[in-house]
Amino acid sequence: MLKTRDILDEKDKRLRQISKDVVFPLTEDDKKLIDTMIEYLHDSQIDELAEKYNLRPGMGMSAIQLGVAKRFFVVVYELTGPEDEDKEFENYVLVNPKMISNSVEQIYVTDGEGCLSVNRPVEGIVPRYARVTFEAYDMEGRKVQIRAREDLAICFQHELDHLNGILFTDHIDPKNPYKGKDQMRGI
Ligand code: ZN
Repeated sequence: MLKTRDILDEKDKRLRQISKDVVFPLTEDDKKLIDTMIEYLHDSQIDELAEKYNLRPGMGMSAIQLGVAKRFFVVVYELTGPEDEDKEFENYVLVNPKMISNSVEQIYVTDGEGCLSVNRPVEGIVPRYARVTFEAYDMEGRKVQIRAREDLAICFQHELDHLNGILFTDHIDPKNPYKGKDQMRGI
């Protein structure tokens, strides 16, 4: 089982690498890694489990955050609302992902974006596209197109950045951390 301490911290230089394309078929190790990433992200969004196993809540994780410089990421997206008793999730595994189109409209997370590798409060906002289309491969090597909007779109863009060695904090100008806020929509 993946532990919070297994996730690289922002100070770790490995997070700055540009990850390499995955060659199919996936190795057994890659498949196991994906399973543990899904498990972590799922459990981290269930309060009792997060507390029990000391997990930081997160919805996305890239392989490089575990020190594996391969171009894939996993997203465990909650489909249910805060009122629902049993949470339901949809899992996404994107291998060799590319963003092939995006909306003109930009959005940002009002409370500030978060990252499992950034363990400190960060002031400021990150402009992201409100709607995106990604092309990627699934675990079996089939080409897929996925459209995402709002928080899921932000998550995809955040994870794609990881594969290119970019952290969300890089997008924030420390001298003007809320730059462009009035031209974007907060979510
Ligand atoms: Zn992150």
